[in-house]
Amino acid sequence: MCGAGGFIGAHLARRLVEDGYWVRSADIKEPEFAPSAAHDFVVADLRDRDECGRVLEGGFDEVYQLAADMGGMGFIHSAECEIMRNNVLININMIDAAAAAKVSRFFYSSSVCIYRDMAIGEPELTEEDAYPAMPDNEYGWEKLYSERAVMAYGRRHGIATRIARFQTTYGPEGTWTGGREKAPAAICRKVAEVDDGGEIEVWGDGSAVRSYTYVDDLVDGILLLTASDREEPTNIGNPEYVSVNELVATVAAVAGKTVRISHIDGPVGVQSRNFSNAAIEQLGFSARFPLRDGIARTYPWVAAQVEAARLTR
Ligand code: NAD
Repeated sequence: MCGAGGFIGAHLARRLVEDGYWVRSADIKEPEFAPSAAHDFVVADLRDRDECGRVLEGGFDEVYQLAADMGGMGFIHSAECEIMRNNVLININMIDAAAAAKVSRFFYSSSVCIYRDMAIGEPELTEEDAYPAMPDNEYGWEKLYSERAVMAYGRRHGIATRIARFQTTYGPEGTWTGGREKAPAAICRKVAEVDDGGEIEVWGDGSAVRSYTYVDDLVDGILLLTASDREEPTNIGNPEYVSVNELVATVAAVAGKTVRISHIDGPVGVQSRNFSNAAIEQLGFSARFPLRDGIARTYPWVAAQVEAARLTR
């Protein structure tokens, strides 16, 4: 489990251990919020090809590649060179090492950032609509390149490659502060920090449309896809579309606060994302957590982090 010092990888490692797998996790850092559930945790910089080989020593049936230098829109727009360099090195070296180690199944975490910008209300994009390609940012271009690299290695070396394009994912133990946090965690933090009746800042006019996937749903989708025969990159997400203003309203309702929004300039990203989940649903996937339920599980965790940080100040 590469990248298991991070948010999704830590959750996925925990689920695989619960399901009875023997799991080795690898990351450049230990998990921040809870001890790793894996049987073995190796600290390794996966930009380095030798390190990729080292974490596979002993022999593995499956590799899940979730390590990436990444964050929300603020990070994606300010760290283009780091994203292009670090992620391409991690991805190419990890699939190369997996081929050399004769791994039979390789999962790669791509993103819906590989899709072009959309107008609000446009019909859903399917996986094939990724081409002709026009991702909105360099993070999306790198993901698209790495999807292709993983598939090329799969063809050459007979590895069953499985590629998921994740929608924005949220839940407890996700980055919630420091500049890499994504919108759901950022909004939870801002709402937790203000008093009832207070004001929070939101980038843009709040009309941009998104859908957000609760981490347990994403883990379900990853495991279904990896166990399936489906070779094409596959969207995994929740079909509940909301504006950023509606996301704020949902978080405020869960927090039991009235919150006013101050709209400020900032890196909003695409205007809309609206893509099909039909392929993953055909494999039996169905998102179990509507936004309200997922936020009800996430907000208390973020609020507890905010309170703990306040007490140590
Ligand atoms: P995360 O930042 O919490 O986890 C990524 C992990 O990769 C971190 O623990 C980090 O330390 C590790 N890493 C970075 N550079 C490394 C290196 N050189 N060597 C070893 N480890 C390194 O992110 P996440 O949200 O858990 O995302 C996991 C994967 O899913 C990433 O590939 C990401 O691009 C993709 N993804 C996430 C989302 C989302 O909303 N969270 C959406 C689309 C795609």
